[in-house]
Amino acid sequence: MNAAVVDLGQVRGLALFRARGTRIRHIAADAYSVPSASGRGGYVVDVAKKTCTCPAHEESGASCKHMWAVAYSRRDRELPLSVVESEVSEAVRRIYTQNARAYDNAQCEEEERVQILLRALCDGIAEKPRGGRGRPRAALGDLVYCATLKVYGLMSGRRSSTEMRAAVARGHIKRAPAFNSLFRFMERADTTPLLKMLVQESAKPFREIEHSFAVDSTGFSTNTYVRYFDYAHGEDRSVQRWVKGHVMVGTMTHIIVSVNVTTNEGPGSGDAPNLPELVQQAAANGFDVREVSADKAYLSHENLAVIEAVGAQPYIPFKSNNNPSGSPAWNRMYHLFSLNPDVFKINYHKRSAVEASFSAKKRKFGSSLRSKTRTAQFNEVLLKCLCFNLSCIVHAIHELDLAPEFWTPAAEVKS
Ligand SMILES: [Zn+2]
Repeated sequence: MNAAVVDLGQVRGLALFRARGTRIRHIAADAYSVPSASGRGGYVVDVAKKTCTCPAHEESGASCKHMWAVAYSRRDRELPLSVVESEVSEAVRRIYTQNARAYDNAQCEEEERVQILLRALCDGIAEKPRGGRGRPRAALGDLVYCATLKVYGLMSGRRSSTEMRAAVARGHIKRAPAFNSLFRFMERADTTPLLKMLVQESAKPFREIEHSFAVDSTGFSTNTYVRYFDYAHGEDRSVQRWVKGHVMVGTMTHIIVSVNVTTNEGPGSGDAPNLPELVQQAAANGFDVREVSADKAYLSHENLAVIEAVGAQPYIPFKSNNNPSGSPAWNRMYHLFSLNPDVFKINYHKRSAVEASFSAKKRKFGSSLRSKTRTAQFNEVLLKCLCFNLSCIVHAIHELDLAPEFWTPAAEVKS
């Protein structure tokens, strides 16, 4: 163990300070009132006596998150931001991978939690007014609910009618949508922006936690083939169609804050052209974007300028043949790159979080798509991203005492 290793209380304390630091109050002498992470009630920390009135401290006597939060708010604990970020993300990574007991708790509750969180998200979907007569149309929120749980694996094909009846019994959906309605929902082009919005909304509870981000892309295989005429060989050929997910994730929790889906080839499918929208979307959703790392495929004047425009520091490595002079943003990053290679390296490597995130998602929700048409395949990738975020939230509820709320205005969250 070295001195740089931080404990769980510290990680949670920093998260608490960021989320509710403005509500820490000095009561008297060395006493401070600290809001609870769940948002209900609070505790009293005595800095001189090193005590807190919370059950965790009273039980163990160890430094709890409330004591750490007070330390951060009094600036007793001031560490260079980059050090704090990297230590904390390292600690979170260890907690995520090694805290087996908490992980088991998250696992056994996950199914139920996911259903509740998903319903809360679906409640924010505006229903289109119904016109005409005939069979009542399935509510949009119910379609999203069922389609997401299907991708999550909580509604498998054979069991799905039983599970949908259970969802009706839970009060999560009004009635089980017909197979055809779900099918049509996946095929519809206007499902895509709706699902993108839901992925973004599901990430918003992380606005106070995530400030460092990484951008990357990954491919999903399909069972469909694209036919083309090969002029060189004078014959028809076909290649398997791939779909590409472009995402920006928080490097601490791996939550997907913005996403785009494209074909594997053709206009708009390149990595670099997808970065601006991902970064701008996150900033527009109220994320305080401080760092963005990406691999060298993303290096362009435009991308550096977009990252700087939202107030963030880009960490994109130069290629050996890159010219040291260019746009102002280019020059600034080149300066950092050549003068502080170690700082650059530490920050750049946060992007490995994205790879970890992708492999976790692919293990859990599969890397191949079942849908047959392009639109449905795009929507299926977005549903996988939504499932991934829901599972991220369940873990953060356990590990970081996150109290997720959806559809709250950004102004309330910004400090
Ligand atoms: Zn405490």
